Amino acid sequence: MFSLTPDAAEPRLHVARRTLERLRTVPELAARYTGHAEPHHLDDLAALPPLAKDDLNTALAHLEPKAEHGATWLFQSGGSTGAPKIGYAPTGFYMAGVHAHWQPLDPDDVFVNAWGAGRMWGAHFLAAALADLSGCQIIAVGSVAADEYPDWLSFFAARRVTAVGGTPSVLRLWFARARAAGITLPDLRKVLWLGEAWQPQLAEDMAAVAPRARRHGMFGSTETWVVGTNGPECPADTFHTLPEQLVHVGPDDLLDFTTLNPEMLNPVLRYRTGDAGRLAACPCGRPGPAMQVLGRRDSVVQVRGLGLHVEQVVAQAEREPGVTQAQVLVTEQGGRASSVEVLLLPAPGAEVDTERLRKAILSATFTLSTAFQHDPQCFRVRTVDALISNGRTGKTSDLVVREDS
Ligand SMILES: [Zn+2]
Repeated sequence: MFSLTPDAAEPRLHVARRTLERLRTVPELAARYTGHAEPHHLDDLAALPPLAKDDLNTALAHLEPKAEHGATWLFQSGGSTGAPKIGYAPTGFYMAGVHAHWQPLDPDDVFVNAWGAGRMWGAHFLAAALADLSGCQIIAVGSVAADEYPDWLSFFAARRVTAVGGTPSVLRLWFARARAAGITLPDLRKVLWLGEAWQPQLAEDMAAVAPRARRHGMFGSTETWVVGTNGPECPADTFHTLPEQLVHVGPDDLLDFTTLNPEMLNPVLRYRTGDAGRLAACPCGRPGPAMQVLGRRDSVVQVRGLGLHVEQVVAQAEREPGVTQAQVLVTEQGGRASSVEVLLLPAPGAEVDTERLRKAILSATFTLSTAFQHDPQCFRVRTVDALISNGRTGKTSDLVVREDS
């Protein structure tokens, strides 16, 4: 199933044909496209082999695309360890096409851009491009140190900030710190987010700090750029996809993405991000199919030969009163899990009964109770001052795997 009808998509498939032509020039990938016809219809496109993250990086290393106008920006793209893999984008980051369909900001807004800048991260610049198109006031804050939050928050209140944007885990910090410091942002109406799944616990802190604020989300990646957007009336996991992005639901509900934007530098042709999803009507009532993201198919980690569904463990931990955010840390020795820990970021001043939660998770999680049957002390739940974030990507993922040498 596709996000666009044949009538809407097929006149734009010349972009996919050009992408295929470019991919055929990549020595490592050429063979897989042998015998495949040029896509003139959606069926032809669905028959093409999908691309994985590594394939795209291989292609980009060969193609080294260059923007037609202005600068070619290099951004981090994929790979959670080692040297950054690179994705390319022209100045503007394709946000004109997003802004044509989605305008969460207007000229009267005072917008705090809290996505981290630098380190070849894309989201800060993408949000700046959207603010530029919106004609609003922009305060480019980026990431701040732990002790800087109260001063910045007071500044935001004094400047009558109306909008803020960041990854949900960064927004969690801003709102939790504001709540702990007793700072309110009465003028804040809009919370823009991108980069991770929405965190329902955010709504609680938002209600206390900025009762009139509503969420406005984007879904995308550094490879595809923005694929879809949503608003306060849409469920947080459901996005209205853009006409220049063709989304396909394949086997096992895996989503793949094909760009129909002729300016796109990355050769995005049936590219799989690892996200699963489905296409269905959105409860907001907007016509046409919307993309509901069902989570990542790669969020299952092998623990002593058994699959551990990380999202379920994290969700259970985050339902615990006083827990702001949780993370699963798997420590491996020689490829075998020596321990699994659930790290908890408590709300400021909150006490968490870690032993009770530990027992509850163990009894609810077959994988853990079985894998640690003989050494239950190697499954731990503990509170921490900060979760482990990836220094390269700035993201705090649900799962961290460490090799203990
Ligand atoms: Zn909707």
